[in-house]
Amino acid sequence: KRMPADMHWAREDWNRAGRIEDFLPDFAGWEWSWLSVPSLIRATEAVWEFPMVDRDPLPNWTRGRVTLLGDAAHPMYPIGSNGASQGILDARTLAYHLAMEGDAAAGLRAYEAARRPATSALVEASRNQGPDLVLDLADQRAPEGFAAVGGREAVLPLAELEEISRAYKRKAGFDPALLNARESLSYTGATAKAPDPRPAARRDFHRSR
Ligand SMILES: Cc1cc2nc3c(=O)[nH]c(=O)nc-3n(C[C@H](O)[C@H](O)[C@H](O)COP(=O)(O)OP(=O)(O)OC[C@H]3O[C@@H](n4cnc5c(N)ncnc54)[C@H](O)[C@@H]3O)c2cc1C
Repeated sequence: KRMPADMHWAREDWNRAGRIEDFLPDFAGWEWSWLSVPSLIRATEAVWEFPMVDRDPLPNWTRGRVTLLGDAAHPMYPIGSNGASQGILDARTLAYHLAMEGDAAAGLRAYEAARRPATSALVEASRNQGPDLVLDLADQRAPEGFAAVGGREAVLPLAELEEISRAYKRKAGFDPALLNARESLSYTGATAKAPDPRPAARRDFHRSR
């Protein structure tokens, strides 16, 4: 449910009990012989608020041997089954680049170069509903309800549903075709660069020349 624009609340808190009376009226007509949504809601023991909270993409994540990962790097709206999944992709990419570069600072830079643009695009895409866009489309096209989601009288033809889902998967890095086509992030040890044995201070001296 969209809350009124002037409603005040602790936005960054997912542990706040919600109030049934705030949203029960919206579901008053959801009664069928086989399901009563209002009864279902009334019988629910606990209701929690689900605020949509994120942050603008950051211009950088890494300083020397310190970087960000997961929600600390790219908090995004919790739609599209994405927040934790992206944290896992970060971890896999980070481990790969640390192993490949052999040098921590270079590994972190390579990790950021691979993950920051991808996750920044996803933060933006999630603000535009991501795959949940289908809910708004169905509502716009059939405000009085519809008989069939698919089929000839379809509110959302299957091809359109699939394309919305595919486009989001591509952006999120879950698209099977893209995953199968790209190189594995498993570290084999074969192509790792040797770590620079020189102390950091000497290395920086040579780099600055
Ligand atoms: C309502 C909701 C629904 C969601 N649904 C999904 C979903 O379906 N699929 C999905 O993939 N993702 C989902 N997410 C997002 C997912 O939960 C997060 O993206 C994920 O937990 C981020 O993992 P993280 O390790 O980066 O951060 P966190 O899980 O926030 O972990 C950070 C940890 O650091 C600890 N910490 C903080 N400060 C300190 C400190 N100073 N010292 C020591 N420890 C500290 C915290 O206590 C916490 O345990 C959802 C999120 C919400 C809120």
